Amino acid sequence: MVAGPGGGKGTQGERLAAEYGIQHVSSGEVLRAEAQAGTPAGREVAGYQRRGDLVPDDIVFDLLTPVVSAAAAHGGYILDGFPRTVPQAVAAADVGRRLDLTLDAAVYLNVPDAVLLERLLTRARADDTAEVIKHRLHVFAETSGPLIDYYRDRGILVEVDGYQPPESITADIKARLP
Ligand code: ADP
Repeated sequence: MVAGPGGGKGTQGERLAAEYGIQHVSSGEVLRAEAQAGTPAGREVAGYQRRGDLVPDDIVFDLLTPVVSAAAAHGGYILDGFPRTVPQAVAAADVGRRLDLTLDAAVYLNVPDAVLLERLLTRARADDTAEVIKHRLHVFAETSGPLIDYYRDRGILVEVDGYQPPESITADIKARLP
């Protein structure tokens, strides 16, 4: 699932996982849990997250691969927040081939920036300060276009209007999933 910060990936990920009886894996959550655990990798992660920068790929892959493999072994998964860049998508496709995982769809929740900003300012997570939000929106703008094109070219992009009530978004996604 691809969406800007505050785009509803978490909400929709939870709803879809419950509907399909599969796991919801959030890259942001996995990384935050590591940061909370205070491991050396976690301390590094915390710095990137605090600034709203992308965490380096090697750390993301090390932490996420075991979680995704375990979820895949239990019937499938909704992956929220990863891949976030074309290089991550290319590397993930490689890992997927090795682990015999198939990516069925890439769901893009399209939400205007002004709405994202408003949602994040009311959510107030530690990285939801005006300055950091601005930076995350910038990072998303830089990376999302190419990522969305990458999945569109592969014929698996499902783009939905993310500025609707949560139930309508879930219904739109379900209607369009293969
Ligand atoms: P949001 O989509 O609201 O920014 P997330 O929980 O998805 O929230 O991500 C929070 C932070 O976690 C990001 O700003 C980034 O630092 C880190 N992060 C999450 N996913 C990735 C990823 N795939 N690659 C690199 N960093 C990531």
